Amino acid sequence: MNPQVILVTGANKGIGYGIVRSLLTSAPSHSIIYLTSRDVSRGQRAVTELSAIGGRSSNLVYHQLDITDEQSIDTLVNKIRNAHGRLDVLVNNASIAGTDNELMVDVNYYGTLMVCKKFLPILDKEHGRIVTIGSAIAHLAAFENEEIRNQLGNPELTIEELSALMDKYKADCKAGKASENGWPMAYAVTKAGETALSGILARKYPSLLINVCCPGWVNTEMGASMGGKPPKTIDEGAKIPVRLAINDLGGISGGFWENPSVMDTGV
Ligand code: NDP
Repeated sequence: MNPQVILVTGANKGIGYGIVRSLLTSAPSHSIIYLTSRDVSRGQRAVTELSAIGGRSSNLVYHQLDITDEQSIDTLVNKIRNAHGRLDVLVNNASIAGTDNELMVDVNYYGTLMVCKKFLPILDKEHGRIVTIGSAIAHLAAFENEEIRNQLGNPELTIEELSALMDKYKADCKAGKASENGWPMAYAVTKAGETALSGILARKYPSLLINVCCPGWVNTEMGASMGGKPPKTIDEGAKIPVRLAINDLGGISGGFWENPSVMDTGV
């Protein structure tokens, strides 16, 4: 395998940190791994910790990246283009949960969309990959409203139509009509948005490998905020994303992966 240029968003903690830690030992030697975070000090602390482990930490590069900040994304796209001429693998890991439904749409869906749009032009045309960390919670069955369910599952859905659907959700939240109109919890809406986005991009860019996965219920700040004790460690949660980033996938693109297999869920 050739050395690769790999970027992980939101990697200062949690599953993203676990993905970087695993890539440092499993990616081809001489690969360059960009650990990115929205907050510089939190990201640099993570890099310092990983460097202390030794091994292949010379492959590790830190860069600031806030997925909602266009200028932050542009700066990193230019840096990677100038330094390596291309990006091989984009791992969309950064997301938020919580109670601010509209912010969740802006970070999880629109942030991920902007990162994809900006990095696609420098993704390696033959071997490029996008891995998005979705959630099994966002299965289409979670959508009671048949019209929304059908739209999300439409194999010809466009990015414009998907964004309009996310905007409709925001408008319903503002009007206090989200549950009346059959939307599930905000987090599930936004992760379904990310999953549908991945499917659209996979159809649009057939030479790339573009997949989504659910890491399982992982013991991170977000995982623990769902209540109870998540059973998986971050290393376990990192397994499927790392596999989708660097292993032979037999050419599968547009899949939703859960545990070791690809699921035929559509979302
Ligand atoms: P954490 O909350 O532990 O980590 C989330 C990461 O995203 C943090 O580094 C956070 O940075 C970063 N982030 C948030 N907003 C932005 C932003 N605007 N720009 C850049 N980075 C940002 O979550 P997990 O590790 O648990 O989650 C990782 C992924 O896995 C998410 O996509 C999540 O939806 C998904 N997932 C998690 C599950 C679980 O059980 N944990 C289950 C299913 C899916 P900061 O530290 O600055 O806040």
